[in-house]
This record gives sequence, structure tokens and C-alpha cells, in this order.
Amino acid sequence: MKAFQFVCLFGLFINWSGLVHPQEVEILPKRQQIFLTPNTALDRVQQEHSTEAPIVVSQDELDQLIDCKGGGACPISAALIASQGLRAMAGLPVDPQPHRTALRVFRDKPELLLGRISNDRFVNLIAYLCADFQEMSTAISVLSAPNSPHSALEPKWSETDGPDLSVKHGEMKVLAYTVTTADGTVRGRHFVLLKENNEGKLSILNPGSPLKQRFFLVEYRGVPTAAKQRVFFVVPDGLDKSKQTYELNTIFTVRFLTDDADGSTDDASRVETIKGKIDLLADRLRSSGELTSPVAWRSGGAAFGLPGIDLPVEVGGGGYSASEAIELFRHAGRINLNLRDVIGGAHGRPLTKSSTALSQDVLRKLVAGEAYVAVAITEPTAGTDMKAMKSKAVRYEAGFKLTGRKLWNARLRQATHVVLYTLAADSKDGERSAFLIPLDHPGLKVVDRYAHGLTGNSFGGLEFDDMFVSRDHLLGEDGDGGEIFNEHFQYWRLMQAAAAIGCGEAALDQMAERIKTREAFGAPIGRFTHLQQPIGEYLTKLRMAMSLAREAAQMIDNGDYEGATPLVNGLKAEGVEIALSACDAAMRAHGAMGYSRETDLGDRVRDLMGLRIADGTTDVMRMSVVSEKYGSDLWKMAIYGVRDTDTNIPKDKLQPASAE
Ligand SMILES: Cc1cc2nc3c(=O)[nH]c(=O)nc-3n(C[C@H](O)[C@H](O)[C@H](O)COP(=O)(O)OP(=O)(O)OC[C@H]3O[C@@H](n4cnc5c(N)ncnc54)[C@H](O)[C@@H]3O)c2cc1C
Repeated sequence: MKAFQFVCLFGLFINWSGLVHPQEVEILPKRQQIFLTPNTALDRVQQEHSTEAPIVVSQDELDQLIDCKGGGACPISAALIASQGLRAMAGLPVDPQPHRTALRVFRDKPELLLGRISNDRFVNLIAYLCADFQEMSTAISVLSAPNSPHSALEPKWSETDGPDLSVKHGEMKVLAYTVTTADGTVRGRHFVLLKENNEGKLSILNPGSPLKQRFFLVEYRGVPTAAKQRVFFVVPDGLDKSKQTYELNTIFTVRFLTDDADGSTDDASRVETIKGKIDLLADRLRSSGELTSPVAWRSGGAAFGLPGIDLPVEVGGGGYSASEAIELFRHAGRINLNLRDVIGGAHGRPLTKSSTALSQDVLRKLVAGEAYVAVAITEPTAGTDMKAMKSKAVRYEAGFKLTGRKLWNARLRQATHVVLYTLAADSKDGERSAFLIPLDHPGLKVVDRYAHGLTGNSFGGLEFDDMFVSRDHLLGEDGDGGEIFNEHFQYWRLMQAAAAIGCGEAALDQMAERIKTREAFGAPIGRFTHLQQPIGEYLTKLRMAMSLAREAAQMIDNGDYEGATPLVNGLKAEGVEIALSACDAAMRAHGAMGYSRETDLGDRVRDLMGLRIADGTTDVMRMSVVSEKYGSDLWKMAIYGVRDTDTNIPKDKLQPASAE
């Protein structure tokens, strides 16, 4: 099973207090940590609970607090009990006042009072509760039934093998199943905790009666080619007279992360761990009104290595591959497209190609979350057509004098440095050079413009006339700018596409939720199936885009930049456009609310509209895909216009007739 979403990571430390008795634990192979099984841990919690010291919050106690239509008491109680079980599992003291914790949960997450706990909300709730486990690392994964209506993007279990219902030390599973009455009415989902699996007989803890022992028998249903497609729970010995059916829908697995012998967490989980930390930081910055501030993200994210995550280990970075980074960009885009700027070194990545003292210093500060690098290429009269660039470099004593104008550049007001492109000093065929310059460099003036979207960053330009920069500021050699640009933007466009995909996916999640709950003419608007169609269409298209993005990332990781080019350019175009269509559909399905600030859908649309221009426009990216596949003739035809019928030379490239 592939981990989907993680919650919190701190250092590793076992606190031998609380409910755990050392002689009863087992040392697991290759691990230094010691954990109980869910059965032992939950037994402890059940046994320790008393009226005088109530450590279990039952579903009934929460029912009154939650919107009667919402039915969310059971997952919240399940999450609170799971967190107590996890504490017991790891030897942490149990929460002595879980009822107070419940009130804190409702204060910090008031949306839970509405009930209707989606998978995302449940994961976020667990993440929130696990944040209290000081010094312990946990991860959550979500696995859904192939037919689950609650899962948009999570992995589904194999229809032939069925879901993993095993129990392990250091791992707690919460099972959500759909309850359907004899007449076919779906009553909603119920959440229980899995204690033990004895050859298909499950011992569970039910938040409705949390101190009692309950059992289910597992029954698989499907077709011969997919025998374990559906999983039903049956109460043994005919004890259930309700005639309801219980169909397993989702498995939430919370597990403690442990260090391997070499001190590193396993590969699959490190990405998920960072996702969990991103979620926690997002919560914090949302509450301080800084969610879209790249500067706040960079300084806050430095605590867990976020600004250097895709920089080489040698410079203090995380050394994450492109394949890992796309997952983080996608995750960041789900939260807000402004977060396209907060994962990894971003426009500071090309500095790794330079060995100057300045570059090394900026890289160090980048990793520490103190530096932030902008890029200035576009000029008032040179956007797509970079060959029309006028900014120039002139050699001058121990450096260069730079003169030019830049416009439509993002983040100049937030950044500490800028990678500035000019024509090379020795340019013969329009070669360019790239310079790393502090934004407070003498002679560099920032000008401001207004942008409709991606407002976490500024928008504007630069003015510089005969501005002296020493040789230390040049990245690579004079004339290396084209190469630096190509390699960097290959990576960057792919990451931007991944962020766009995440942005679109999260809008579809909102849309699915809305059409289930918003009523018009006496029933949910989801019955108007034209509102469901775009979800199916864009979900699939976004999945296709993500799968292509993974292929391209793999190529980049293998050093095959050339092979990745058409995929990346195509993705920059289509990933953004599909996401834009998805957000537009989600916005429309929300009616007036979608157009208001009560949802973030308008921002998503606006931000994606910016991204369809930034880093290479959709049109131009598509043209490059055509050119890659069918040769440069079509590109030249577009660029140079009509050909002369006699010479077959583009008319505007014809040399004037000679004097003779
Ligand atoms: C939000 C945002 C952030 C940005 N951030 C930065 C930044 O940080 N640094 C920076 O240097 N620049 C930045 N840009 C500028 C961006 O890179 C340029 O806007 C982009 O390259 C297009 O250039 P242009 O605006 O001059 O449009 P033009 O090149 O004038 O294009 C105008 C229109 O013509 C179309 N077009 C042009 N050529 C072709 C062609 N060959 N085939 C088909 N269609 C074509 C384009 O698609 C577009 O629709 C940013 C832009 C935006 C919107």
C-alpha cells in the first residue's frame, strides 16, 4: 500500500512513562523503537478509563455538539481514541483530559462541527492530534475501496488481493464503513478502530460503545476476476438484528516512523513526512494570515529542510529527486498555487552550477530559509521572443557593466537575490549570460506593477544602467545563460505543472463535496449529472497529466533532459489548462459562493491564469511540442511567416538584392 498523506515528524525519543510497562514490549527487527500492537495499546486505554479519570471520549458525548445532519461525532471520537491508543502504543503518557482536547479541536477546526467528515478532514484531524506527540514521528496513509464515493485521488485496494487488514506493532488502523439499511438507504459512514485480525475475525473498538469488545467477520464480494473488490463486515453469531449492511469504504493507517539503522527514514515515507509537515505549517501560516507569503514559508519551512529539499546534499540540501519533488509541488498546489514558490531552491537551483563565493553563500542562506531568489528574463519588448532581449553586459575591468530594463517579473520585492539574464558580453549569435545579484545591489532599481493573481509575490521589473558587477556575480561563463536557462526551466516547468495539477485536484474535491451537500429544489444538486461529468473528466485528465509528469521526472532523474523536453513542455501547457478548467467547473458548481471569498476557487482560477503565461505560455509550449515531434519547419513557418516561392526562404529572411 502506498502512503498517501503524512502528518507529523519530530525527532525520535521514547518516553518510558504512562501506560507502557517495559517488560511487556517487543523489540522489532532493525528498529530501535519499541511499540505495542493496537490490541494491547487499546486494551490499555479501555482498562485505564474510569469515571474519575475519563480518558475515552465516546461518540455519544460528541453527538450533541455536531450538526444533526452532519453525523460527524463518530469519526471525531474515533480519532480521539486512536490518538490515545497511539500514545499508549509508543509509551507516551495518555492525554489526561481528552474532553478538553475535543473542545480545542472544535475551536481550531470549527468545520468539524458541521459533521460530514471527508477523508481529508479526518486525515487533518489525526494530523492535528498527532502534533501533540512530541518527539515522535507519525504517518497516515489512506486506502479506499475501488468503488468508494469518498475518495478522489487516494490509492484503491487491489480488486484481486483486497485490502491489507493486518495489524502491526506501531500501527493503528481506523476503518470507515458504509451503513446501508435493508431498504437500501445509505445512512452514512461509521468509523471503528481495528484491534486484531484473527484469520478474518476482526476485533474492533467502536466509538459508539468504546469500552466493549466487538467483532466483525470479513466477507469478500466481487466477480471471479475481481473477487475481493468489495469487503463487507458481518456481525458473528447473528447478534445484529438490524438487517443493515456494513461495507468497508476506507482504511486510515497511522504508523510511527522509525529510523533505519543508517538513521534515515525509508524512501517512500520521506516525501509523505514532508507533506505532513507542509500541512502543519500551512495551518499555522493560515492562522497568522501568511499562507501565501513565500518569505514566511521559507523561514518557517527551514525547520524541516523545505527550502533546500531539492538541492544537493553537499550544499546542505535534502537531495530529493525530481520524482519526489513533483509529489511535493503537487501537494503544495493543492493548498494554494502561491505555494509553487516554497518547495525547494526554486530559481536558486542554478546556483549549484556555480562555484563562486557569492553563489555558495546564497545557497547556504537559501537552505537556511534566509535567501529567496527571483529570476528576471522578460523585458518590455522581449517575452516569448527571448532573442529580442536588449539588456546587455559589457566587460569592465574585473567584471561587467550591465544595462537594461526587465518587466513582468515576479517576487522582486520578496526576494533577496535575482538571477538576471542579459545578452552575453561576447555575444555573437544572441547568446545570453546569467548574473546573480543581490536586490539591494547599487544601481539596481525595482519597479512595481499590479498582478491579478499569485499575489503572495510582487510583480514588476528592474532598471539598471551601467551597473557594475564583479566577475563573482556571473553564473558559469559568459554566454552560458542559454544552457542555464534550458536546464533550470525544464525542471521548473515540470514542478509548476505538478503544482497546477494539485491545485485542480483540490478544487474537484471541493466540487464533489459541494454537489453532495448543496440542495436546490428539494434535493442535492449532485443529481444534476452535468455537474458530475466535469469531475469525472478533469479527474481523469489530471491523473493522466500526473502520470506523464512522473514519467518526465524519472527521465530528468536519469539525466535525460532532452527526452523529457516535449513531455515537460506539453505538461506545462496541458497540466495548467486542465487544472484551470477543473477550477472553473468547481467555481461554477458553487454558484455565487464560488465567486465569493468564502471559497478559494476564484483565487485558484486567477492564479492558474497567471501560471498559463508565466514560465512559457500555453501557446508557445504547445508549439514546442509540435516542433519536437514534427520538426522545426512548422515552428519556423510560424515564426518567420510566408516563404518566397522561388527560393523557399522565409520572406523576412531574404537578403536585400546585391548592388550589382
Ligand atoms: C504571473 C507571472 C509571473 C511571471 N514571472 C516572471 C518572472 O519571474 N521572471 C520573468 O522574467 N518573467 C516572468 N513572467 C513573464 C512571462 O515569462 C512572460 O509573460 C511570458 O514569457 C510571455 O511573454 P509576453 O508577456 O511578452 O507575451 P508575448 O511573448 O508578447 O506573447 C503574447 C501572446 O502571443 C502568444 N505568442 C507569442 N509567441 C508565440 C508563438 N511563437 N506561437 C504561438 N503563440 C505565441 C503568446 O502565447 C501570448 O498569448 C511572468 C508572467 C506572469 C504572468
